[in-house]
Amino acid sequence: MPAFDAEAIGRGNSRTRPELTDSVWVARGARDLGIVVAHELAHVLMDSGVHDNTPENLMAASTTPQNTQLTAAQCARLTATGQRHGLLRGVD
Ligand SMILES: [Zn+2]
Repeated sequence: MPAFDAEAIGRGNSRTRPELTDSVWVARGARDLGIVVAHELAHVLMDSGVHDNTPENLMAASTTPQNTQLTAAQCARLTATGQRHGLLRGVD
């Protein structure tokens, strides 16, 4: 049994496993799969393992169907870091 339902591997936590950089892994049977994938992708795009337990925030430690929101600051970081790492295209 894995320790987590899912894991995001960004730049900051891939030193010992560089081949997994910028990837998301989800265990079979994970609940709330869409939310889990969105949460883990946001970790990768922000290159941050930080959680925000503000009610309804997508980046709460616990992924639930109610937790779907990102703050403006989270969106800004996600966009800027994702583009810098070549994971998102810039918008002209
Ligand atoms: Zn997380």
